Amino acid sequence: MKQSMTFIPTLREVPADAEVKSHQLMLRAGFIRQNTSGVYSYLPLAHKVLKKIEQIVREEMDKAGASELLMPALQQSELWQESGRWYSYGPELMRLKDRHNREFALGATHEEMITSLVRDEVKSYKRLPLALYQIQTKFRDEKRPRFGVLRGREFIMKDAYTFHATNESLDEGYQKMFTAYQNIFSRCGLDFRAVIADSGAMGGTDTHEFMVLSDIGEDTIAYSDTSQYAANIEMAPVITTYEKSSEAFVDLKKIETPNQKTIEEVSGFLEVSKEKCIKSVLFKVDEKFVLVLVRGDHEVNDIKVKNVYGASVVELATAEETKEVLHCTPGYVGPINVSDQVEVIADHGVASIVNGVCGANEEPFHYTGVNIDRDAKVSQFVDLRFIQEGDASPDGEGTIKFAKGIEVGHVFKLGTRYSHAMNATFLDENGRSQPMIMGCYGIGVSRTLAAIIEQNNDENGILWPDSVSPFQLHIIPVNVKNDTQRDLGETLYSNFSRNGYEVLLDDRQERAGVKFADSDLIGIPVRITVGKKADEGIVEVKLRKTGESFEVSINDLQVKIT
Ligand code: ATP
Ligand code: MG
Ligand code: MG
Ligand code: MG
Repeated sequence: MKQSMTFIPTLREVPADAEVKSHQLMLRAGFIRQNTSGVYSYLPLAHKVLKKIEQIVREEMDKAGASELLMPALQQSELWQESGRWYSYGPELMRLKDRHNREFALGATHEEMITSLVRDEVKSYKRLPLALYQIQTKFRDEKRPRFGVLRGREFIMKDAYTFHATNESLDEGYQKMFTAYQNIFSRCGLDFRAVIADSGAMGGTDTHEFMVLSDIGEDTIAYSDTSQYAANIEMAPVITTYEKSSEAFVDLKKIETPNQKTIEEVSGFLEVSKEKCIKSVLFKVDEKFVLVLVRGDHEVNDIKVKNVYGASVVELATAEETKEVLHCTPGYVGPINVSDQVEVIADHGVASIVNGVCGANEEPFHYTGVNIDRDAKVSQFVDLRFIQEGDASPDGEGTIKFAKGIEVGHVFKLGTRYSHAMNATFLDENGRSQPMIMGCYGIGVSRTLAAIIEQNNDENGILWPDSVSPFQLHIIPVNVKNDTQRDLGETLYSNFSRNGYEVLLDDRQERAGVKFADSDLIGIPVRITVGKKADEGIVEVKLRKTGESFEVSINDLQVKIT
């Protein structure tokens, strides 16, 4: 590519509104321009890097046995109503209406879309497991879009989904994806850690985030200095507990809900029994009914339930609003039927299904019937917000250290959360109808681009890792008005290009200082300067990362730079 013909609008000054290094450098080096808050154009250089990251992602996804497809970004509201997320997703979901007044969402994620696609086509265990992925633009109306493309409102995501007949098959599929993610982020030249993640609104005891270590990261990771243990400390709501014989009582008045409301009125109390480490209770906050599902470390402390580590909170609506039976997730805000059989699918990823009946008006908030489908791996639910740096770690090895991380990827076992709600079933070997068991796996492709820059830069600009650099060589004839320099530059450009190198040629009529400054800013790993010794067939090679430079005869050039 010739610089005179492409579009690399570099800036000398640091843009005032760009707080973090990657954002500043992406603007200064002419990679992106903002359109409106959280919405960006990727200019030719960024586009090239995105394609490289995507290529790495595709290779690793294909290796993991996943097939690429492309689903619509425009999604009918009915699908989101089926899963219940039309109500629970909140204002982050971009919603719009068509000319017939039908409601749509712009895809923030594609669980609903893929579940409906697969349920209509796959009917037998013989067609499972199935792994599908796409690379696509996602839309989220983030409360605080910031740090450039690190947190955009329109961004590029790779999202994969797997469908299984058994939990063992899900475990296998999850492991394959986990390995693929490790390969992807290693190949992108990132210093990262896979951490145990909060299940958040998605659910999942088996859920990991891939965190790029960086001081500007919005997540805090607690990791062990000697073992593989690492977890995101953003866990479920804080619960204060005290111990009484073999039971733990939760002081519900001290529960903080995710939206920081304090609980005023408690309609039930929580008892964690020997048999079950998870219980639920329904109570009232600000005229809303709240269902809390609590996890305790029943196994760890040998029958005795000692601590209650975390909880998921489901907010329910007032009785007057309740009309329909809904499947809801922790974090769900919306109507729920209080007189009928209510099915709440607790989104633990261990496929915890809670079936209950909410009582009638005389005893309005009584909740009965707790039914945990599978054993929760409760030892993972340590509420790390109580942990300090230097503490022993939850896996019994080493001491805890803290670090900041940027979440570039997230894998989780969804279980039957969506297949159950959306009736995606298959016939098993015995001809019985079963809900498909699912996993989902996301990578922020555009966020990864920025994270790479965040970790690879110096005071002069970007330092691209070879694997994702927009070009391999930057050829700079110092003075293009000098025929020898210009011609040699052109010759090297076409020779290297012919030999399969990706080359950027700075054929602009600019001062040498401008060209070198732009070159440092853009950060291509190898620079070839064609200057005064061009007539002797000698050029200068400079390595961007180390600053090392040396003169080379053009005959030896190819050998020297490989
Ligand atoms: P975050 O915690 O940063 O808001 P998330 O947990 O909401 O991210 P996921 O739903 O797990 O995101 O989506 C999968 C991946 O998509 C994330 O791991 C992240 O890399 C990327 N991603 C999510 N939100 C954004 C965003 N607003 N801008 C850019 N990338 C994003
Ligand atoms: Mg988010
Ligand atoms: Mg997150
Ligand atoms: Mg996430």
